[in-house]
Amino acid sequence: MEIFHISAECYPVAKVGGLADVVGALPKYQNKAGHLARVVVPCYDTKFKRDNEFECVHWGHIKLGNFNFPFNILKEVNNILGFELYLVEINELFDRKEVYGYQDDIERFIAFQIATLDWIINRENIPDVINCHDHQTGLIPFMMLYCHKYQKLINTPSIITIHNGLYQGRFGFDKLYYLPEFDLAHVKVLEWDNCINSLAVAVKCAWAVTTVSPNYLNEINYSANGLESLFNMVRYKSKGILNGIDIEVWDPATDGMLEKNYSIINYEIGKQENKEKLCNLFNLDPTKPLFSFIGRLLEEKGGDLLPQAAAIALSENYQQINILILGSGNTAIEKQLNSLLQDYKGNYNTFIGYNEELAHLIYAGSDFLLMPSRVEPCGLNQMYSLRYGTIPIVRRTGGLKDTVIDFGDDGNGICHDQASVGDICYSIQRAFALYDDKKQLNTIRLRGMNIDHSWERVCQKYIEMYKLIINKNES
Ligand code: ADP
Repeated sequence: MEIFHISAECYPVAKVGGLADVVGALPKYQNKAGHLARVVVPCYDTKFKRDNEFECVHWGHIKLGNFNFPFNILKEVNNILGFELYLVEINELFDRKEVYGYQDDIERFIAFQIATLDWIINRENIPDVINCHDHQTGLIPFMMLYCHKYQKLINTPSIITIHNGLYQGRFGFDKLYYLPEFDLAHVKVLEWDNCINSLAVAVKCAWAVTTVSPNYLNEINYSANGLESLFNMVRYKSKGILNGIDIEVWDPATDGMLEKNYSIINYEIGKQENKEKLCNLFNLDPTKPLFSFIGRLLEEKGGDLLPQAAAIALSENYQQINILILGSGNTAIEKQLNSLLQDYKGNYNTFIGYNEELAHLIYAGSDFLLMPSRVEPCGLNQMYSLRYGTIPIVRRTGGLKDTVIDFGDDGNGICHDQASVGDICYSIQRAFALYDDKKQLNTIRLRGMNIDHSWERVCQKYIEMYKLIINKNES
């Protein structure tokens, strides 16, 4: 089967969060399973782009309203990622350091989607399936159905995979003229709440909708930033498929970013050495339990709860625990977190920013990983931490509910129900008590390390879903 994955992110080409990890792994495992999966992402000014070799396989011009942009399709020549990688080069729009956060993001990603489809219809073969990821690629299913120039793709199944339904790519009808020509009788399909809503468009037009965990699929029926009724309407073509993790990248036995590699045989020593390295770097006490947080410092991640929860937990357990925060996002939260540095010196530290290497070391060297998320469509951090023998402390939501079971129920982690300071602190207290019971601590760690969250198993579910929609179309 020939599959195109179209996305704004792909690890290690360009990463902001979990979307990149999924798009950088799922296609690799689909290829290993005998399919031909390709990935198409915009060509940002990233290290990966600068360090690798590309050839131009197609070029053209796209029209975006009154503007014309030349574009090139660059293919990475050595297939180093385990799949064919194509970058859509539109220099005026994407030759920048960051993936998102620019005023013209709407224009950038519409241009990306048009250039991608222009190229695909010019190729010899039409793919069997086009798998779009998140709202940045959400107009593609519409364009494939209704834009005159893409009529060649009208019978090609499109899938939208929702990694995060909070972000929807809304814009006004004043930008309608950016889209390639289509029969205006279909204009209503673009509308949701008086706007063009890219995610809603994808959900309406795609042949199938997938979310990145089964529980998230249930949740978006009652909480989806205004799209709840739409998700209810398309339930018949929706499926929740729990993300996998790339066990070639995330393996404590081979991970090149760790101080010491380890497996289920020597994890106690291995974790301790990584902890010592971390504690050295951040002036923490390696004899005390280490609670960490990795992620975007936003309300959806419960980031706003962290400063108060950390202050309370550190005061109640004065010099008995360590807390380490890695992340960036809301500047007020960043400031509040840094304001604790002076008071809890020696037991608390932060790294405000993005650091892939440090994240790996934290998964390995921590005892507990905090995830007090309000919204967590799947969450990869808890799966990485389980694999690295670090016990996740999670709020029961989204994919966290699908993957973490409280140790009180013979599970692999610590769970709480409310995204509140109180619940976080109570969980930290339970973890603190557990830390002293080494036998039980190690039983739980091993349970986590032995779970198979690999893509090898999971990628089959995507293939089955593709086959189902292809067969339905043919019958
Ligand atoms: P989301 O995509 O919502 O941010 P996920 O749990 O799905 O959350 O994925 C987060 C990914 O981003 C993980 O690979 C995590 O290690 C990584 N990550 C998040 N913040 C940082 C950071 N500040 N530094 C390094 N890695 C980070």
